[in-house]
Amino acid sequence: MTYKLYDVLEIDKNASDEEIKKAYKKLAIIHHPDKNKGNPEADAKFKEISNAYSILSNPESKQRYDMLGDDNYNDGGGGGGAPDMNVDEIFNHLFNRSRNPFGGNSFFGFNNDQNQQNQCNNIIKQYNITLEDIYNGISKNLKFTIKNYCKKCNVTCDKCNGTGMIQQLIQMGPMTQIFQSHCHNCSTSGFCVKNNKDCQQCKGSGLFDSEHIAHLNMPKGFTDKTTVFAGLGEQPRTNKQKAGNMIIEFKLLDHKHFTKKDNDLYYKQSITFTESILGKAIIIPYFEEEIKININQFGIINPNKQYMLKNRGLPIMNSNGKKGNMIIEFNIKFPTKLTDNKEDLNKLNEILNECFMY
Ligand SMILES: [Zn+2]
Ligand SMILES: [Zn+2]
Repeated sequence: MTYKLYDVLEIDKNASDEEIKKAYKKLAIIHHPDKNKGNPEADAKFKEISNAYSILSNPESKQRYDMLGDDNYNDGGGGGGAPDMNVDEIFNHLFNRSRNPFGGNSFFGFNNDQNQQNQCNNIIKQYNITLEDIYNGISKNLKFTIKNYCKKCNVTCDKCNGTGMIQQLIQMGPMTQIFQSHCHNCSTSGFCVKNNKDCQQCKGSGLFDSEHIAHLNMPKGFTDKTTVFAGLGEQPRTNKQKAGNMIIEFKLLDHKHFTKKDNDLYYKQSITFTESILGKAIIIPYFEEEIKININQFGIINPNKQYMLKNRGLPIMNSNGKKGNMIIEFNIKFPTKLTDNKEDLNKLNEILNECFMY
């Protein structure tokens, strides 16, 4: 998980509240638009650090951000930059229309994607798998602790009416300028927590944990990189929102004996030079089985060649028990020294010339 907001403020993720404040002050002075007139980069930078500060200076949004990271924090654009001015919101404000926090009802006919806005973020979790898991398939219950919002204690922010932004109209001669800034009351989330210590469910924190069991079921030889548990992602804060999904990303761990390529398994075997010619009985640990072969079944072993054991690879998904192959590569240890015994060498020369055929 990445936490770019800390980088934006040039601080460590363990920074104290005081350090966050200091860092913001320092950067805000440097990049303040008043000091950088006509410099759009400074303006953007100022917005960026202000956005980071608005999230990290609020204990509730900070906790949420620390929990979810850039990818899952519901701030658009990975929590990095400030959102762009929304003409729709400004017009709603100018004409005193109360804004539906989930879009729609647009003055310009912009069609906000209602579904997208009502859907909470997905949470991505990495799940380590082994070649044994692919060979045998997976059938397992996984337990997840889900963070839920207490619906009784999360209320729409009354400072920004749930939009997360505050608009100010300033009269400058004949022109009315609209200034839009982030709502610090709710850290742009549009929600506030009532802090009701008597609440049975959340004790005033606005959040409570619940345990969920999900069954992970993958067939033998599965090739999927991910699987999805619907509804176990970020949880809704109001009844109008729909829970996000939990996306499980499989990460294949290195195996003691094999590397995988599609349905094939690659196996490395070390042998001596003599064994490469005369053969050797070897045992290959193939999951619960042991494959016993003599390498002389492949003839003289060439270090630059690959040798195949058919149907000794990984199962092929939905193929009625078909399997890939095992590819064996040999690492041949060549002798480093010859005997000094002239007689032996002469004998060896004779034998080799007799036995070897090129
Ligand atoms: Zn607000
Ligand atoms: Zn509560």
